[in-house]
This record gives sequence, structure tokens and C-alpha cells, in this order.
Amino acid sequence: MKQIYFDHNATTPVLDEVFEAMTPYLKETWGNPSSIHWAGRGARGGLDTAREQVAEFLGCTTSEIIFTSSGTEGDNLAIKGVALQRRDKGKGNHIITTKVEHPAILNTCKYMEKIGFEVTYLGVDGDGMIDLEELKNAITDKTVLITIMYANNETGTLFPVKEIGEIARARRVIFHTDAVQAAGKYPLNVKELNVDLLTISGHKLYGPKGVGALFVKRGTRLVPLIHGGHHERNRRGGTENMAGIVGLGAACVAATRDMEAEVAHCKGLRDRLEKGLLEKTPHSKLNGHPTLRLPNTANISFEFIEGEGMLLNLDMLGVAVSSGSACTSGSLEPSHVLLAMGLSHEMSHGSIRFSLGRSNTEEDVDYIVEQMPPIVERIRHMSPLYDVQKQGASDLTFSDKSQMQ
Ligand SMILES: *Cc1c(COP(=O)(O)O)cnc(C)c1O
Repeated sequence: MKQIYFDHNATTPVLDEVFEAMTPYLKETWGNPSSIHWAGRGARGGLDTAREQVAEFLGCTTSEIIFTSSGTEGDNLAIKGVALQRRDKGKGNHIITTKVEHPAILNTCKYMEKIGFEVTYLGVDGDGMIDLEELKNAITDKTVLITIMYANNETGTLFPVKEIGEIARARRVIFHTDAVQAAGKYPLNVKELNVDLLTISGHKLYGPKGVGALFVKRGTRLVPLIHGGHHERNRRGGTENMAGIVGLGAACVAATRDMEAEVAHCKGLRDRLEKGLLEKTPHSKLNGHPTLRLPNTANISFEFIEGEGMLLNLDMLGVAVSSGSACTSGSLEPSHVLLAMGLSHEMSHGSIRFSLGRSNTEEDVDYIVEQMPPIVERIRHMSPLYDVQKQGASDLTFSDKSQMQ
């Protein structure tokens, strides 16, 4: 069977060169990097090199990198680490974020509310964009942290990180951004971006799963989540995941080298896919910002269908896509991102995310553009709402009609 992978925002395959870099650390170079003898020194060398590679990728110094077990841990450490440290110093208990963050941010913020913090969740407009005036007005003298993502994992919408950083700096509020989806697609220079903390994850970047990094600007204090030995300058205990960390370093090197070509490749294919599907499928709509959007992401709602049904039909053709976000699939909750953008429950349920990557080809795109519209049509014919619409029984808008059930 054909296998076409259009789900790179969920995870990416490990590059050959990344795999090659990692394997010695699972076998020959097995020492503990904290040991001072020969076995430890070998591992220490690999750890130091990886830290230099990640620091270079982010435009920071090696002492500003904390290796973590995932993007999720990086987000948790940034929020809990900074917010608890600031509260303990009597600086306040208010956090600002948005309604469209990844669950790693949203659920951490919900937890912070349970332990006494106040959280402002900024809304977004129909393109998924926040309003900077609303952000400015939300900041109070109790605000200890702003955490706003760089690129949305579901729609690809990009937030103005640089401007948010300027606002935060002017008000002396610490600013963290989750840049997991932006990494490898845009240059991430933490100084130019005006950020105090920034999260990346290995497996969204053609590196391995189970490893990530958090940039913490020099002088930004945080309490650790994991207490233990003196690893990561006392900020994260635990003997380092050597193979994973070395893999993350190699993935950062590859990303910098290939970024320009990859972005052009993905954007060309993504535009072809969008144009083809929107033209050939009536009652379909592109979600996300028309221009300020990741070059690899197309999120499209098809009225009168269930995303899950579509996903299963495509899976039978060997095509891997995502409906809603991978983290919410398995539940029947519609996407919190699309709902925040004002989409009806029905339109949110009928959304499919295509996220492209290195291995995709024009043939992949043309295959989907050819195969998908008839499937949409077939599924729609099973929907009573679609028949009402086709018979022209009413000229109500779709969301009005859904309430007739
Ligand atoms: C995937 C993702 C994460 C979580 O990263 P893991 O390494 O899978 O824990 C966080 N934020 C965003 C935007 C993501 O896309």
C-alpha cells in the first residue's frame, strides 16, 4: 500500500544523519558524563558538543540551555519554574497566555490556577490572531509571566513574538515562547526574538522523541521541577539522555543547513494542496491566518463531515493526516483552537490538518487532491444536514440548521 505522511506537526521521522550520530552513545560511548574518568570523558564530549549545537541553533550561550525530556517538560519547567520563583519572591501571581496554546501550556496553566495563580487566556480573531492591545491591557503589576506560542500546531498561525517580547520587556515581565513548531522553519535567534525562555522538542525537528531543550536567558531564575544531582547547573536532576541529546544537536545542525530549501519545498506543495482541495471541494474553508502561517501547515474544514470519518477513509488509502490535534483525538471534543477562532462545533469537527515535510512530493499532493473530494462527497451523502442543504429546503446558515436537530 502507498504510504503518504502528511502529519509532520505530530512527529517527524529521524534523519539518517541524526540516527548515525546517536548510535555510538547507546553502545561504545556508554559512560556517565558526570564521571571524571575516561568513560565519563567520552560521554562528556558528546554532551558538550550537542549543547554547543543547540546553543548555536538558538543564538545563545551553552549555559543558557537546559536539556529536557520533551517539549512538554520544557513548557512545564518554564511556567512552573518561573511563576513559582517569582511568587516566592513576592512579585505576584498572574500569568498571561492564549486560548489556543498546546495542551502542554494550557493544562499547566490550569494547574497553576489550582495552586493559587490567576491566569488570563487571551482570545483570538477568526484568523487565529491575538490582539496586542488586549495583551498590553492584560498586564498588571502582579503579572509574573507571559507564555505565548510562536507557531500554532493546529493551524500554523504565527504570533508576533518579537513585538510581544518588546511589550513584556517594557513592563518587566518575563516572556516564554513555545517554539516547538517554529523550530526548523524559521531562524530562532533568541536575542532578536526578545524572549527570556523558549522551548524546542527533538521529534518535531527530525530528531528523536523524548528529548527537548529549554533556553533560559542568563539571569532568569527558576525553581527546578526535578530535584536531584548537579546536572544542568542544578536546574534539572537526572543523568542525561545521551543518545537523545546528541540526536537533538545533530537535528539542529541539519535544520539550519536545510531550512531555506525545506521551507520552499513545503510551501510550494502546501499551496498546491490547498488550492487543489479548496477548488475541488464545495463547502470547504481554510483555517488559520492567510499569510502569517507556517509554510507546511494547511488546516481545512469540510462542512457536513466528521474529521474522524475522513481520517479513517484516508488511512485506508495509506494517507496519514490529523483531525483536530493529535492530543485531543481519541476524545470527541472539537479542537479548542478552532472553537476559539469562532468556528461552529460542526465546522471544528469537520477539520483536517495536513502538515507537510521533507519527504513529501508533488505526486503525494496530487494523489490527495484527486482522491479526497469524492470521499468527502460520499460521506456528505450520509449526512441528513447535507441533504437539507442540497434540496434548498431553507436558506438558513449551516450553524442555524445544525440547531434544528
Ligand atoms: C508537540 C508539541 C509540544 C510537545 O512536545 P513533546 O516533545 O511532544 O512533549 C509542545 N508544543 C507544541 C506547539 C507542540 O507542537
